[in-house]
Amino acid sequence: MRNEELGDLEVWIDQDLCTGDGICAQYAPEVFELDIDGLAYVKSADDELLQDKGATTKVPLPLLTEVVDSAKECPGDCIHVRRAADQVEVYGPDAE
Ligand code: SF4
Repeated sequence: MRNEELGDLEVWIDQDLCTGDGICAQYAPEVFELDIDGLAYVKSADDELLQDKGATTKVPLPLLTEVVDSAKECPGDCIHVRRAADQVEVYGPDAE
């Protein structure tokens, strides 16, 4: 992925609340993937699964709609999208 396609939003998952249904991985497989523990994790821009709980990755701008829809549909309410600059959540359970 080219740098200019990366926006200034980032996304992380609270794995403690993830139900493992895989909706996010269906919506945006470039960003979300289920690991062998059955929980969803985010992926880096070079397609590497980030297996630390709460790991953060940038939201690719072309996939913003899919990522936001994932956050809205997430049954666990555990997908958090925030501005990279000030860490303010813009989509997800903690967004205003
Ligand atoms: S949509 Fe939410 S609950 Fe479902 S797998 Fe993804 S992060 Fe987990």
